[in-house]
Amino acid sequence: MVIPYARQSISKQDIDAVSEVLRSDFLTQGPVVPAFEEAVANLVGAKHAIAGNSATSMLHIACLALGVTDGDLVWTSPISFVASANCALYCGAEIDFVDIDSETFNMSPVALAAKLELAQKSNRLPKVIIPVHMCGQSCDMQSIGFLAQQYGIKVIEDASHAIGGSYNSQKIGDCAYSDITIFSFHPVKIITSGEGGMATTQDEDLAHKMRMLRSHGITRDESEFEFGNDGPWYYEQQELGLNYRLTDIAAALGLSQLQRIDSFIHQRNAIATRYNEAFASTQVAAPHIDPSCVSAFHLYIGRCNFKTLKISRVQLFQKMKDSGVLLNLHYIPIYRQPYFARMGFDPKTFPNAERFYEQAFSIPMYADLSETNQNTVISSLLNVLSTQ
Ligand SMILES: *Cc1c(COP(=O)(O)O)cnc(C)c1O
Repeated sequence: MVIPYARQSISKQDIDAVSEVLRSDFLTQGPVVPAFEEAVANLVGAKHAIAGNSATSMLHIACLALGVTDGDLVWTSPISFVASANCALYCGAEIDFVDIDSETFNMSPVALAAKLELAQKSNRLPKVIIPVHMCGQSCDMQSIGFLAQQYGIKVIEDASHAIGGSYNSQKIGDCAYSDITIFSFHPVKIITSGEGGMATTQDEDLAHKMRMLRSHGITRDESEFEFGNDGPWYYEQQELGLNYRLTDIAAALGLSQLQRIDSFIHQRNAIATRYNEAFASTQVAAPHIDPSCVSAFHLYIGRCNFKTLKISRVQLFQKMKDSGVLLNLHYIPIYRQPYFARMGFDPKTFPNAERFYEQAFSIPMYADLSETNQNTVISSLLNVLSTQ
């Protein structure tokens, strides 16, 4: 048995909730999707929540709803999953990256301020910026939101890692400093619906646009019709939308999982505390959590300066695997992916992301990681580091 870096936690209640939908009249477009949306909106303190079949889909329609189109520019963090950048490309926009803070691994407000100043001079300001709440810890949204307002830029929070986390004592997703927040419910994330995502916003107009775009750009609401109502069969396609709907089967799993979110976050933080203590006297640098944040701890990322160790990172991964522990690396800087490298990015312009990529590794972290398995992770890592 190997210990993966992440996995879902499925209860009997989850299975029963899904079974109930399978026995009901609606597998999709039924009552469970709006119930899930309402539960997430209530949890995070947002007026509107719109569910979709992945965070990637919701990032795409969030960009569309904000009017991202050909010739526009979108900025995100290079230390993220590729979906944070691809959403802009789907809309025909160009992507660029803002270097990270070396302690939080989040988009650096200092780097952002400097890049905005230059961009204004060359008249190439982004339309949207997408800060990513890396590992489940909020970005410095107060600073990022302030800069965005100053330059007239829209903000999408990629909170794929971060449902259940808090910033300034408020739940991530309340969009206090942004236009839209996106969550992911992929099985490795905090709660899962198999595949799934959610957008939250306080803006009625954006919520309406995203609801339309999620389902072909179609409305059946008579009060919104542009042309005359031909009869009871009538609906209108008013925009070019997509089919990004979440099924009720998936929503039932998500809604059921949401009942346990507090215990998931508690468990993840308890494991993080154990790791911090266990690795305190080793060369592994623990993640830094800002006092303004409660991290959802999707990931626990350790860092080592492998240049001063006698072991390479490849050897570390292999030795840990030999003892049954699968490490991972989140993330390869997006600009290093061949598809993005062809756009001509220079890694030297992102020194903190480059250093992060030299030093980082993800250690198993999930709510159901048993004490025995935590012990295996800890003793294996201590063992590998002491025998090198
Ligand atoms: C997982 C993830 C996504 C994509 O989520 P899906 O639901 O799998 O589409 C986007 N951004 C980040 C930062 C992620 O970790």
